[in-house]
Amino acid sequence: MSYYEDILEAKKGQILFLLGNEAIARGAIESGLSMAASYPGTPSSEVGDLFYAIYEKAGMHFEYSVNEKVALEVAFASSTLGLRSMVFMKHVGMNVASDAMMSIAYTGTKGGLVIMTADDPSLHSSQNEQDNRHYADLAHLPLIEPTTPQEAKDFITLAFDISEKYSIPVIFRTTTMISHERGLVQVSPIMDQKRLSNFESGRDLFNSIPQFASRNKKLLQEKMANIKSLESDRFVGVERAEEDEWGAISSGVGYAYLHDVITKYNLSISVLKIGMSNPLPEKSIIKFVREHPRIIIVEELDPYLEEKIRALCELEGVDSIIYGKMNSYFPNDYEFNMDIVRSGVFKAIGKEDPNSFTKGAESPLVAPRTPVLCSGCPHRASFFAVRRALKLAGMEDAKISSDIGCYSLGAYEPYDIGDYMISMGSSIGIASGIPVAASKRTVTFIGDSTFFHSGIPGLINAKMNNAQTTLIILDNRITAMTGQQPNPGSRDLDNLDSKQNISIESVVRGTGIDSVVTVDPFNLGEMLHAVTDSFKVDGPAVIISRRECAILRDAKEKKAGRHVVYTVNTEKCSGCYKCVEDFACPAISIVGGTASIDPDQCDGCGVCSQRYVCPFQAIEVA
Ligand code: SF4
Ligand code: SF4
Repeated sequence: MSYYEDILEAKKGQILFLLGNEAIARGAIESGLSMAASYPGTPSSEVGDLFYAIYEKAGMHFEYSVNEKVALEVAFASSTLGLRSMVFMKHVGMNVASDAMMSIAYTGTKGGLVIMTADDPSLHSSQNEQDNRHYADLAHLPLIEPTTPQEAKDFITLAFDISEKYSIPVIFRTTTMISHERGLVQVSPIMDQKRLSNFESGRDLFNSIPQFASRNKKLLQEKMANIKSLESDRFVGVERAEEDEWGAISSGVGYAYLHDVITKYNLSISVLKIGMSNPLPEKSIIKFVREHPRIIIVEELDPYLEEKIRALCELEGVDSIIYGKMNSYFPNDYEFNMDIVRSGVFKAIGKEDPNSFTKGAESPLVAPRTPVLCSGCPHRASFFAVRRALKLAGMEDAKISSDIGCYSLGAYEPYDIGDYMISMGSSIGIASGIPVAASKRTVTFIGDSTFFHSGIPGLINAKMNNAQTTLIILDNRITAMTGQQPNPGSRDLDNLDSKQNISIESVVRGTGIDSVVTVDPFNLGEMLHAVTDSFKVDGPAVIISRRECAILRDAKEKKAGRHVVYTVNTEKCSGCYKCVEDFACPAISIVGGTASIDPDQCDGCGVCSQRYVCPFQAIEVA
């Protein structure tokens, strides 16, 4: 059995060592999950990895939908017919899904519907670090936050129960650390899947025309008031210290650090741990705050709990002193760690921080390194050809809009590809806007998965505006950055012409754009010509740069026994370093005055052997 099948087959009481995301997936299956949908996004990806591996065996439906909004709509529809359903995404995916979510909050659900968001403090793999707890306020939805993998599994079942009992979607929020920490998890039995109702007639149920929506707004508020009155002790934990001077309130990963700091330094601080951040367990909070004249609030990102608790104290006339982000005891930005929490706690309690950094200790232990595209990555060849074509055409100052995916790494030297990178699919919209202001042709990059996700509306807009842009769709046949998930163009990876795959060429031509060519970026000459020709087109010109992701290709070549590596013929190498400075494959470096290829890193793509990269043709098959 595979690793994921072992997780599915684990029996009641068995203890597994799971990632938070794996615990969430197991918990959802234990809860009788019938359907799940997602668009892959780190740090939520492993939930999908597990479902994708076992969904048939588990007798459930799972899909990577075209984007997060569609994923939510698919899961919602299934929930309205009584099936327990789940959608999960990274934090910015919630922005895409939110249009549907705001109305689904009003209509409510039948079968339990859980919307998982994984936030990314410190922007490890994201363009911002928004705190998605605010969505719970905006949409008037319950929000549950686990701290450990065991809680992640157990709380998912509670989320489904609440959703079903109150006919309301429940937001389940993690952060990177919660999704990616590993811990021991005791599993529970897997409940049978159930169907609460078949199709119920009555269009007022799930139709949000104003007449029904205004009634549903009231119902939504009643549901939230009922959930608030629950104050379930499953979501409230109190740890008492010997003295009652100091109390601390926390949730999510903040609690984990707080707990470690209090334990390690033997601090006399009571703790109120909150597992449901909306609606807040107000009675428990007020009781706790009344009991402790000094309260520390520990939470990552925004002062979400703090603002609410301060307002609650004001309302209830409680005058305990609060130490949090709003009075600068903790930072508002980036991921927490033990040092940050320890420093804030010691500052609050007015004691010298036992581990405060000395000047010398501030030096990082690891030298900062620029992230790089993999050896043999086809994007590198596309960037190289575009940079060369722009130079030949005297267009080096052309604005380049890029998008979300591995190719966002093109922003680093030597490619310098990406004057703009904003959000999924935004590259093409931006390409429509720049020529309006600057009357100059632009170059636009978007990946295959991102194109399907939200690039198509931008493309239609570009055609409508006759935007002067060369759009390069980097089709590496997979959603690579998040871990090789399939997308609508790669349902059947082995057969490009399979009817299962949506043809990017057909989609582009369907908009009425005539200038569409498909090129293999490993053929630098062909790519160079295609890009140069595209600059002469009046309006949008599309180049589909198709070559599978190096990781896929590498695995296939090795399996077929075709894997080769390249080497530098030092007799021919002039030491011009163009291969290092302009092409920058990480397998190539300079050793003793000539270029050298590390055979362990070389993927055998052969692009560096072409005269466009090495004018002396000094790179050969080893
Ligand atoms: S481009 Fe060719 S000649 Fe120049 S350093 Fe690299 S291998 Fe040597
Ligand atoms: S063949 Fe050249 S470009 Fe390709 S992976 Fe090897 S060193 Fe890098």
